[in-house]
Amino acid sequence: MAENFVDKDIVIIGAGPAGLTAAIYARRAGLNLIILEDKLAGGQLNLTSIIENYPGFPGGIGGGELAEKMKEQANAAGVEIVNVRANAISEESGMFFVTASKETYRAKTVIIATGAVPKRLGIKGEEELTGKGVSFCAVCDAPLYKDKVIAAVGGGDTALEEALFLSRFAVKVYLIHRRDEFRAARILVKRIKDNKKIEVLHSYIPLEVTGGTRVEGVKLQSKKDGSIKEISINGLFVFVGSEPQARIIKDLVETDKDGFIITDENMRAGKKGIFAAGDVRKKKIRQVVLACSEGAQAALSAAGYLKDGAEL
Ligand code: NAP
Repeated sequence: MAENFVDKDIVIIGAGPAGLTAAIYARRAGLNLIILEDKLAGGQLNLTSIIENYPGFPGGIGGGELAEKMKEQANAAGVEIVNVRANAISEESGMFFVTASKETYRAKTVIIATGAVPKRLGIKGEEELTGKGVSFCAVCDAPLYKDKVIAAVGGGDTALEEALFLSRFAVKVYLIHRRDEFRAARILVKRIKDNKKIEVLHSYIPLEVTGGTRVEGVKLQSKKDGSIKEISINGLFVFVGSEPQARIIKDLVETDKDGFIITDENMRAGKKGIFAAGDVRKKKIRQVVLACSEGAQAALSAAGYLKDGAEL
C-alpha cells in the first residue's frame, strides 16, 4: 500500500444529490471531507429534463440547473470535489483507504453515493447504434430530433416524463411498453394520454434496433399474439430503469441480488464506518428528495461515529 495518504474524516464517493447533501451536512458538522466524482457533479440530474417534485421550485426546474445549484451550495460550504475515479477501497485497523488515480485517501468513514446508471435493453443493435440514434438521455439528445420520429421504451416515471419532453421536439413519439399498464405516476399517464404526438404501443417487447450507420427502425414483438413488426424511427430512447454502481464496495458490504447496497435506516451499510445513500441503496422508491435526505442522514451518522463511535 502507498506510503503517502491524504487524510480526511470522510471520503464521499459520488457527487449526485446524495453525495452533495452529505458533504454540505458534514461541512456544517466541522468535518474534513472530500468528494470523489469521475463524471459531472449532479449525477443523474444531468440526464433529467425537468424535476417537478423537488420542493422549492413551484414551476419545476431543469435537472442540470438543479445539479448546478446543489454544487454551488456545496462549494459555498467549502466542499472540495475532485474530478477523479475512485478505483478501490480497502480496510486496515478500522481505517479505509480509497485509491483514486495518483492519491490514496485515508479516512475512518466512507459514504458511498455512487448512484445508478441507465440500464440497457440488451438487444441486437443497441450497443452498435448507441450515439448513432440510440440514447439514454433525452435532455442531452432531444434537440437532435426536431421534426423526426422517435421511440421511447419503458413504463416508469422516467420513460413517461422523458417521452413528454421528447414530444416537444419530435414530430411523433412512440412510447413502447412491455405491459398494458404503466407503473409511472398517474399524472404522467394522463399527460401521455392527452398528448397528440405520442402513440403508446402497449404489450410490445423490443427485439432489435435496426439500421446501418444510424437507427432506422425497431423490431417489436407483440406479447399478445407473438407477431413481429418493425416501425421506422430516427432515434430510440431507452428508459428501462437503472443499475447500481457499487462494484467498488461490493466485497466490503452486503448487496442484494441486483448489486444495490443494503443499509439500515441510518444509512449504515453493515460495516462500521461505511455508509451508503441515494440510488445505490436497496430501496423501493428513488427520488431526488430522498437521495438528499439519505445523504444528510449518512453524514450525520458518520459524524456520530467519528465523535464517539455511535454512528448516529
Ligand atoms: P423503473 O421505475 O424501474 O421502470 C422501468 C420500466 O422499464 C418499467 O416500466 C419496466 O417494465 C421497463 N423495463 C425494464 N426492463 C425492461 C426490458 N428489458 N424491456 C422492456 N421494458 C423494460 O425505472 P425508472 O422509470 O427509471 O424510475 C426509477 C426510479 O426513479 C423509480 O423509483 C421512479 O419512481 C423514480 N423516478 C421518479 C421521477 C419523478 O418522481 N418525477 C422521475 C424519474 C424517476 P415493467 O413496468 O413491466 O416492470
